[in-house]
Parts: sequence; structure tokens; C-alpha cells
Amino acid sequence: MLSNMSSFFVRTLREDPADAEVNSHKLLVRAGYIRRVAPGVYSWLPLGLRVLRQVEQVVREEMNAAGAQEVLFPGLLPREPYEATNRWNEYGPNLFRLADRRGNDYLLAPTHEEMFTLLVKDLYSSYKDLPLTLYQIQTKYRDEARPRAGLIRGREFVMKDAYSFDLTDEGLDESYNAQRRAYQRIFARLGLEVVICAATSGAMGGSRSEEFLHPCEIGEDTFVRSAGGYAANAEAVTTVAPPEQDYSQIPAAHVHKTPGAKTIADLVDLANRDFPRSDRPWEAADTLKHVMVTLVHPDGRREVVGIALPGDREVDLKRVEAAFAPAEVEVSTPEDLAKHPELVAGYIGPQVLGPQSPARAGQPDDAEELAGVRYFLDPRVVTGTAWIAGANEADLHVVNLVKGRDFEADGVIEAAEIKPGDQAPDGSGPLEIARGIEVGHIFQLGRKYAKALGLTVLDENGKSQVVTMGSYGIGVSRVMAALAEQNCDEQGLKWPLSLAPFQVHVLATGKGEEIFETAQNLAKDLAKDFEVLYDDRLKVSAGVKFADSELLGMPFVLVVGRGLKDGKVELRNRRTGEKEELPVEQAAEAVR
Ligand code: ATP
Ligand code: MG
Ligand code: MG
Ligand code: MG
Repeated sequence: MLSNMSSFFVRTLREDPADAEVNSHKLLVRAGYIRRVAPGVYSWLPLGLRVLRQVEQVVREEMNAAGAQEVLFPGLLPREPYEATNRWNEYGPNLFRLADRRGNDYLLAPTHEEMFTLLVKDLYSSYKDLPLTLYQIQTKYRDEARPRAGLIRGREFVMKDAYSFDLTDEGLDESYNAQRRAYQRIFARLGLEVVICAATSGAMGGSRSEEFLHPCEIGEDTFVRSAGGYAANAEAVTTVAPPEQDYSQIPAAHVHKTPGAKTIADLVDLANRDFPRSDRPWEAADTLKHVMVTLVHPDGRREVVGIALPGDREVDLKRVEAAFAPAEVEVSTPEDLAKHPELVAGYIGPQVLGPQSPARAGQPDDAEELAGVRYFLDPRVVTGTAWIAGANEADLHVVNLVKGRDFEADGVIEAAEIKPGDQAPDGSGPLEIARGIEVGHIFQLGRKYAKALGLTVLDENGKSQVVTMGSYGIGVSRVMAALAEQNCDEQGLKWPLSLAPFQVHVLATGKGEEIFETAQNLAKDLAKDFEVLYDDRLKVSAGVKFADSELLGMPFVLVVGRGLKDGKVELRNRRTGEKEELPVEQAAEAVR
């Protein structure tokens, strides 16, 4: 196909956009690939759309090859399914919520677990229908607190999301591994280096989850890796052994009546007054990000019983609840609890304090308290030597809970605590710390969504079984930006052949009619085999054409100009910078 620059819908800019900090963002806007509409919201212009489509195509082919089938859901979704899984609230302010003219609530989908689960529930009913993996390449919406870097963190973005459905845990492992392999092929084909990082800590138990991080300075994720192959998101790194601590100076944990205490700061003040510590005063643990435990009572009443937030923000339980996405586990007996090693810091009833860890799970007092109680627990338990949490009765608060003493200490350690050179948890060598862009994420969801939405099938014995699921995302538009980030220089973009919007850019530089005629003939000839962009603009100087071609970044640039009087044209390789003078007759062949 041949496109003429004179009529092609593109305008290049000499100035970087004011809000742009990273190269891919600057260049994609300046080269006329995308245009900003609102913070984190972009339009796709012809050049950008061509690259996006190529990336999508690679993803699509590998999904199909892995046996996944393509569907397409709307982005505008009703509230009810998200209510059933509690994500309407749990998603917090990142969710775009809206109402229709009748006042019914809708949302713009941030991800589609609910809808896929319901679709399969609608149509499938037997174990014979499984396994099944469905996917879509579709627009997602998240009201990100800090949209940044153009396509890298958008509020509207393109995602490939796939969902697997299996009867058994082994089946889920297979589906997960098939997606994992497909991801490796996708990123290999795109030429995008990725490190597969454990995304959840082994010590926390739970399901398998891995992130595909593209190592890159501008990335927002910190990960660690060892030469021996260990790699993990820094948030998920586990310590080998619990740190030794001297707890003798710290008073025992208490339930403390604190009428009127509204903020963490109030609680800290009260703790310092009533339970002074000899080593240093209580402070709200600001290394502690958040811990939340919600009890659901048999009558359905929900209650946040444990929270901790840094600083002295108002303890607004509704907001806290809305801000996090706790994992739900059902616990009604100590045996149930023992299956959930992630339950490391919870307590029940104002009198019963301390850990509901496996270590304590068998104790009879816990058993009584546990009957019929469901736990919602944010599994991201973090560091901090002391913290303060709310108890499940008004004005009662637990103070002096100490990690390592009152609940298990081998959990998550913060990125800041990992030093380069520390031994990897699996002993595979010293750790290196790096930054990366999360381009993909695969996750074993287990039965959570299927249970919440009632997706069951009949097994061989005619017994109803809850289906187990996986979810697998690739940020397609983010991947495109990561590729741009990797394939550029001071002058502009430089696409690999398989991703470029056009493979050949023919420039007619000069005034003579012969130049334009020759250039056009060459462009037409090449267009039989390639996507060709022909710069046929009459009143544009050679300098501008060269600069534009470097900015736009097609891998081959064929210059028809001054040399033509000696029968020569110049072939430039945008990626290597090599230039070659060729007889006109050989030009088309040289590109081929
Ligand atoms: P992040 O940690 O960057 O916020 P996430 O963990 O919230 O990403 P997932 O829910 O795992 O994202 O979604 C799957 C994939 O979608 C991510 O791996 C990423 O590539 C992409 N993605 C997520 N949020 C955005 C966004 N705001 N803009 C562009 N791509 C995104
Ligand atoms: Mg996110
Ligand atoms: Mg993430
Ligand atoms: Mg993720």
C-alpha cells in the first residue's frame, strides 16, 4: 500500500508537549501518532493506530495459538455483577461510575472478571465443557490517581484480558502455564525484554501470580533478581528468616477503650499516655502501608475490625473499605483457617487478641469465636514494628500489636529494606534491584469469582462443582509505549520492521520533476510488497523531510535527490544509521 505524505493525516510538532517527561510520550505526540484529549486519555491517529494494530495482531495470534477464543465485551457495564463480587466498592476511586437516565448505576470496566464468569455461567453447565479460555482485546477505564507518561499509565487504555475456566486445580495450572508460555512468545516476537517476577509472596500462600516486567528506568515497579534466576516484584519478596527482635521492652498488646478517638493520631496519643514505651514513643507506623481485616457476621453484617493507615488521616472505614481489594476467604473452623496461611494478622472479639495465624488456629477459644464468621483480609501485610488497629466494637482499639511477636514476622519486606547484594530468598545468588514497566500480569484467581457469581458445573458424578479461574492481562497500549521507549533516539522513533506503520519511507528531496517522477515510481514499485509512505510534498525542504523521516521512524528511508543526476539514490537504515548509495535500478531490490 502506498500513502502520500501530502495527503496523509499527520502533522509533526517541533516542540515537546508540556506535560511529557518520558521519550515515548514526547515522540509519539510529536510524530503525530497520538493526541491528548484529557489527562490519561488519548486519540489514535493513523500512524499510531497502525502500530497498535500490529501489536494487537501479535497478541491475537499467540492467544489463538494457545487455544484461547476471542470475544468482545462492552466497556459500559451494569453495577450488579460488580456488586455481587463487592468490587463496586472495593475498587475504590479508580472505578469510573456513572448513572443512566433512569438512575441505574453503571461503570466503565477496569477489567472484566465478572462478565466472563457470568457469560460462561449462562452457557455452560457440564465439566465436559471445560477447560475453556476466552479473551478480548478491549478498552479499559481506570481513574488512575496519577496518569503519566502518555500511554504508559492511561485512564483509558487497551488491554488484552483472558480468563480460563477449569474444574480442577491441576487444570488451572495447565491453563495458567499455557498463557504463561504464550506471553513469553508474544514478548519475544515483539522484541520486548521481560523479566517474569513473582507477584505474591510464597510465604503468604494463596494463588500463583506473576508479573511480566520490562526492565526500564522509567518503570514504576521495583523488582529484584538474582543471577540464578530468582525474580520478584519487590513488594512480594519474602525474608528467609524472621528478623531477630527484642520484644522485652514493648508492653503486651491490649484492648484499649478510646472513646472519641477518630484518627490514628488520636490513638497514638492515647497509646503514649496509657502505655508509654521505654525505648521510644508510639508512632503511627508510617512504614506500614495498610492492613485491613473485615468480619462478615452470620447475619451478613460487615465490619472492618483491623485497619492501620500511615499518618493521621481520618479513619473513615467506608473509604478504607472502598480503597482496597481484599481477598475473601471463608473461615468457620480452625481447620479452614489452617488452610489460609495468609491470615496472619487478625483477631476476633474485643477480648481475643493477636494472630489468627496457623500457629494459633487450633486453639479452642479461637474456634468458638470463629464459628460462622467470614474473613475478608487484605493479604498485603507489611512491615512496621508496632501498629495500632481498630477493634470490632465501638471505641475499642487494639494497641501494641507487634509484628513478629503478635503475628508472624515472615511476611513481606519493603523494597527499601532490600539491599543490593542481599541473598535471594531461594539462595540463588545476590540480589540486584531494578525498575520495570508492568506489561503483563497472570493470576490464578481460584474459585473466588465463580463462587460469588454462582458459576458451577456438574462433575462426572453429577455433583455440582465450583469452577476455578485464572485471569491474564497484557497492557497492549502500554506495550506499544514501552516499545517506543526502547526504539528511539534523540531524533525520533525507530521502529523494527514488524511493528512500523510503514516499512519504507521514500523521500523526494529537491526540485527537479525527474526526482519526483523517479521517487514516485520507486514508491509504487515498493508498494507492491511493502507499506510505503511517500514524501511527495512539493514545497517542503529536504531538511524538513529528513527531520520528519527521522521523527516518524520508518526502518528504511529511500532518498531520491541530488544523487539522481548520477543515477544514484540513497538507502538509509533508520535503526543502524547506515547509509548506502545505490543505482536507481537496484534500489527496490535492495529494500527487498
Ligand atoms: P499497575 O501496577 O501498573 O497499576 P495493574 O497491576 O493495576 O497495573 P492489572 O490489573 O494487572 O494492572 O492489568 C493488566 C495489565 O494492564 C497490566 O499488567 C498493565 O500492562 C496494563 N495496565 C494496567 N493499568 C494500566 C494503565 N493505567 N494504563 C495502561 N496500561 C495499564
Ligand atoms: Mg493499577
Ligand atoms: Mg501492578
Ligand atoms: Mg497487575
